[in-house]
Amino acid sequence: MVKEVTLVTGGSGLVGKGIEKILETDSLPDEEWIFLSSKDANLLSESETEAVFEKYRPTRVLHLAAQVGGLFANMKANCDFLRNNMKMNDNILAMSHKYNVKKVVSCLSTCIFPDKTTYPIDETMLHNGPPHDSNFGYSYAKRMIDVINRGYYEQYGCQFTSVIPCNVFGPHDNFNIQQGHVIPGLMHKAYKAQQDGTAFQIWGTGAPLRQFIYSLDLARLFIWVLREYQEIEPIILATEEEISIKDVAFKILEAFEFKGGVEFLTDKADGQFKKTASNTKLRKYLPEFKFTPIDVAIKETVEWFKANHETCRK
Ligand code: NAP
Ligand code: GDP
Repeated sequence: MVKEVTLVTGGSGLVGKGIEKILETDSLPDEEWIFLSSKDANLLSESETEAVFEKYRPTRVLHLAAQVGGLFANMKANCDFLRNNMKMNDNILAMSHKYNVKKVVSCLSTCIFPDKTTYPIDETMLHNGPPHDSNFGYSYAKRMIDVINRGYYEQYGCQFTSVIPCNVFGPHDNFNIQQGHVIPGLMHKAYKAQQDGTAFQIWGTGAPLRQFIYSLDLARLFIWVLREYQEIEPIILATEEEISIKDVAFKILEAFEFKGGVEFLTDKADGQFKKTASNTKLRKYLPEFKFTPIDVAIKETVEWFKANHETCRK
């Protein structure tokens, strides 16, 4: 039996941990999975990246590693997000080519789509205009993955593809209030407000709309893409449901059984108002796929955060 050796970059992060969890019950006998963190190799370094390819000789790569952050982290460091992600992506794809990796799945995001657009946005619209100003660095670096994938396919026949998830949350997220995304940030703030008896703060107006996906649902879809999806063009991995930041914040408060006051800090940025993405392509492939209801996913994540509060990323 020929083994498929899958190297997962960013294996210690939110999405990587979700994939590891799903594989506890969904791995196949001919598959070996290697989950990397930055301790195994700094993927900004070409030589360290090459050393892991030399060591593991992967046949497949799931490229998750990235400089990742919420709206406020991006606004402060667009240049770093651009340069670091460009470097990591180029190192991984160059080594995947050099070491004859059969398939690479990299990760884009719905937050890299054009700012001024019609809705819903689909996979064909990725490059139709500039991204939102708040995260242009991350966005252009991520968009280039799609461009390089096309180059590797047309020039060398490589099967390097990508997925476009919406806003992800779940166990092992980055709960740092300044750096993280909105759901882990709000969970951490709710926990603190409950402990300290202070008001819970929602940044911005709460009006923007987002699609959210539970990391364990995304993990199942990622594994399907790696095993089955044959296109080079990306595929959006998102739920149908769009929800306001205010409504998601109140769901989090409900999960905490929070009884204190709530404030909106309207001088803080709202970011892009919405990025409504179509999952029609996904539904053509997987019409029956069931997403975890958002209330259940929020409850499970809140329970995980409370249980792992001392040691988790925050
Ligand atoms: P995350 O939890 O912040 O994890 C990031 C991962 O990248 C960690 O494993 C980290 O390793 C690794 N990493 C960062 N810099 C590295 C470096 N220089 N060398 C080696 N490894 C490095 O991020 P995530 O949320 O799981 O994101 C995974 C992928 O999904 C990313 O490509 C992201 O752009 C994409 N995505 C995320 C979201 C979201 O809402 N979170 C939405 C759409 C797309 P350490 O643990 O060692 O630091
Ligand atoms: P985005 O989806 O890429 O824009 O990034 P985020 O996950 O950081 O979500 C940003 C949206 O949530 C903006 O509308 C913010 O104003 C709002 N928001 C409200 N409270 C928070 C918070 O505590 N942290 C973050 N990151 N965003 C918040």
